[in-house]
Amino acid sequence: MPPSIQALTHTYFRHNKRFPHVWCPGCGNGIVMGALLRAITRLELEKDEVVLASGIGCSGRMPTYLDFNTLHTTHGRALTFATGIKLANPALDVVAIMGDGDATAIGGNHLIHAARRNLNLTAIIINNSIYGMTGGQYSPTTPFGSTTTTSVYGHIEHAFSIAELAVTAGASFVARSTVYHAALADQLIEQAMMKPGFAVVEIISNCHVQYGRRNKLGNAVDMLNAFKEQAVTVKKGSTMEEDELRDKITIGVLADRDLPVSTDEYKRIREQARSKREGK
Ligand code: SF4
Repeated sequence: MPPSIQALTHTYFRHNKRFPHVWCPGCGNGIVMGALLRAITRLELEKDEVVLASGIGCSGRMPTYLDFNTLHTTHGRALTFATGIKLANPALDVVAIMGDGDATAIGGNHLIHAARRNLNLTAIIINNSIYGMTGGQYSPTTPFGSTTTTSVYGHIEHAFSIAELAVTAGASFVARSTVYHAALADQLIEQAMMKPGFAVVEIISNCHVQYGRRNKLGNAVDMLNAFKEQAVTVKKGSTMEEDELRDKITIGVLADRDLPVSTDEYKRIREQARSKREGK
């Protein structure tokens, strides 16, 4: 049986700090936080074994509410801090929590290179198609034609897919869920945290306040119901034509492959160099 919300709240929240939280009622960030906590509980990790690093944005607040080792860093840099932590102490389970703007605009290069390097990290990217906290500007995942504060006549750039970018860049594990599919989200996070190498879980979320309102998508419940309608599994999606997939969200595991892990490789060459220096 999954742990109750009450049990998760008592175990993991920093009750005396940062509450009430800043998220709008109905924001998908809370669902992602619940999914992360359920995954950590099932993995039976001690609080001190886990590090949560975030950048800036609504999602960036998540670690400040949670009683783990946490770092709230600068915009787009969650993965750089996570990299440093992992290299300093490879035994830690390091999770970077980012939004779409944070991970794929200012932090886009870090995402690509963390995947290419195959660091043993988990990246959770909450994709709500907009910069929510700073007032609703378009991000790299804002759909073409959408209205935002920086595209009041409709967005003229095309969105890219975060998960497919991560697959192409070489991540070991890549998966996608939506906040409607909360149980799937926590299973995917659990799989990602267990996977050696760089693991990315993209979770499509609702920002009904900045994105939904401007694009007449209704309230939080309407947006969640739309995710339910739009979702197709990876298996079903593989049988569909490109045109049929245009407005769909493919959910499930997109890539799961065993590749040399950067932290292991680093240890190996360090030992090799030491042996050489000592004439062994
Ligand atoms: S602005 Fe959007 S992403 Fe930010 S808390 Fe509100 S609903 Fe959530």
